[in-house]
Amino acid sequence: MDFVPWLLLPVAAAAGWWSAHRASKKNNTNTTPELNDQYVRGLNYLLNEQPDKAIEALINVVDTDHETVNTHLVLGALFRRRGEIERAIRIHQNVIARPTLTTEQRETAMLELGTDYLKAGVLDRAENIFRKLANKQSQNKRVYQRLQEIYEQEKDWQQAIAVTEKLNRLGDKTQASRIAQYHCEVAETSLNKKNLSDAKKAIKSALKYDERCFRAHLLSGDVHVAQQDFSKAEQAYQKVFQINRGFAPIAYDRMFTMYATQNKLDDLLQDLEAHDLETNAAARYTQLRAYTMLQNERAVRDFLHAELARKNASPILVKRYLELMRESTDGDVQQTFATLHELLDVELANYRSFRCTSCGYDTNTLFWNCPTCRKWGTSKPNRFMSIEYGQDLD
Ligand SMILES: [Zn+2]
Repeated sequence: MDFVPWLLLPVAAAAGWWSAHRASKKNNTNTTPELNDQYVRGLNYLLNEQPDKAIEALINVVDTDHETVNTHLVLGALFRRRGEIERAIRIHQNVIARPTLTTEQRETAMLELGTDYLKAGVLDRAENIFRKLANKQSQNKRVYQRLQEIYEQEKDWQQAIAVTEKLNRLGDKTQASRIAQYHCEVAETSLNKKNLSDAKKAIKSALKYDERCFRAHLLSGDVHVAQQDFSKAEQAYQKVFQINRGFAPIAYDRMFTMYATQNKLDDLLQDLEAHDLETNAAARYTQLRAYTMLQNERAVRDFLHAELARKNASPILVKRYLELMRESTDGDVQQTFATLHELLDVELANYRSFRCTSCGYDTNTLFWNCPTCRKWGTSKPNRFMSIEYGQDLD
């Protein structure tokens, strides 16, 4: 059993406080020295890396002296932080079982025990405790934050919305964009089930909390596509890149798919003329995709030549150019283009499309809720995607 010394430092400090506290008390009132002995024995077990015996000894102290409750709460929290959840649960359960606790001590111990269960993944028990606490401490943000964590893990978005609205009402205005994300989760599920009216309602609720939620606008475009209302879909997609230019590649990709499935890529090309093609690389890349799908080889060639003449030529477009040259040449020249293409391909394989701006997690999938730091809306298209579209987002 490894038992790192750092754990002992705050415990020793707490014990020091406790001894001092008892010493000063000794001057005024009667005290029981044997309790102190038992405490020292418990600490010795800790020092000898025998945490279970230590807990036993320390619990005996709390059995007879409720003044040590705070020390036990510190010890329990330390065990939890070390990942020793079962020990933390044992300590906190024992504290709660004491009949002499003050209301404040009992509720603090309940909060700790609920947090233990949450960390252990025993979500129903954790929920039960925090629900009880919410009735007792209706203004305690920590209680609602824990419930929020539980409902997020359970993907119970309606409950998550309810507790986060409560946090919002308690003055935490940073929660508004999170509530919008929860509504987007509901919208996405409804859209997948082809329940378009529920999806629309959820999108409306998302935008009520955060009108700049580009995920909601993206979903709104998707719902309009499902309803075959293509002009409204296009308006929604355009809104996405008006709000956040970084997400232009995703919005243009949806627009491209929408026009392609209708066999209307000529119309898309015409519409794109009205976009600021000079500065909007995502729009230019969409142009190239349309030319390619329409098999307009001349337009593809002209486009790539023009793109390569730009100051910040995109490596992805250079790759496309090399492909084109590889296909239209032969012999040694073809081999040279093939080798260059391969080299560039290997280089580009190291890039990931998205990066979390909060924790730096790189991925090729867009996660609205970062799987590493659990923050919402922090994943952004990174240089790979920006390079793909010849756009510098940094
Ligand atoms: Zn993250």
